[in-house]
Amino acid sequence: METKLRINEYKTFSKEEEKKWTGPFYFVQGADTQFGLIARYIEHLKEPQWEKEKVLSRICVEKINKLSPKPKFFVICGDLCDALPDTDWEVRQKQIKDFYEIFQGIDKSIPLVCVCGNHDVGDQPTVESVSRYRSSFGDDYFSFWAGGVFFIVINTQYYYDGSKVPEITAEQEKWLDEQLKFSSQSKHGAVIFQHIPWFLEDPETTTESYFFIKKETRIPMLEKLYKNGVRYVFCGHYHRNSGGFYKDLESIVTTAIGGQIGNDVSGFRIVKVLDEKISHEYYGFDDCPTVVNV
Ligand SMILES: [Zn+2]
Repeated sequence: METKLRINEYKTFSKEEEKKWTGPFYFVQGADTQFGLIARYIEHLKEPQWEKEKVLSRICVEKINKLSPKPKFFVICGDLCDALPDTDWEVRQKQIKDFYEIFQGIDKSIPLVCVCGNHDVGDQPTVESVSRYRSSFGDDYFSFWAGGVFFIVINTQYYYDGSKVPEITAEQEKWLDEQLKFSSQSKHGAVIFQHIPWFLEDPETTTESYFFIKKETRIPMLEKLYKNGVRYVFCGHYHRNSGGFYKDLESIVTTAIGGQIGNDVSGFRIVKVLDEKISHEYYGFDDCPTVVNV
């Protein structure tokens, strides 16, 4: 089978047409397919392998393809593959190839939207690692209209540690400020997709953690998003389901399609964009519905 890259598929949404709200719809959000994590981090195997993630990802594709009606799109909120681009590029290329092969199986009518995670560019991204990501998966920050909602995808690595790429970090920030101007035209305000959560449950926490953005960066960013009407931020990275509120801005943290660190099971979140609000529910693959009522 020919391995086709399904990147930048958000561009299939024609801007003018998709700017209009024409009634409720839903999309599917997942995170952390992270091909290679289970063997490296959970099972401590010496040699990299990702058979288990391949099995889980195939189930994911099968479950999405069975959904009726079709979701508007499917977004994976980062850590697409586990091997790091700067130190483990050879292994990573094999993981990417398998990722493409499996996810090209998603029904052609469902655009695939990929978000960049820390494993996709490294904890401290470099010009090289960012360029490798872009050549594999397309843009690492972008926006699109779908069904009357403006979606903004950001690369949180520039907030976690952008010290080696100050120019790209500044570029994204400038771009984000421009994008946020469209939030007021969006049903429910602009909706954000990112990898590392701003916070898990407590937006005010002073604890520093690998799993969320530090407070000095977090609070000004949350305030900026909030002031611009953002009320929903979808993330991954935690390999557990979690979430909380900053004022009435909801941070929704979705566990992995791949390896679990806590007590959740692999699956995805069905997100309904309704007239009065956005509602969402997480489903393990075994409990996943085939009919979605919006
Ligand atoms: Zn991550």
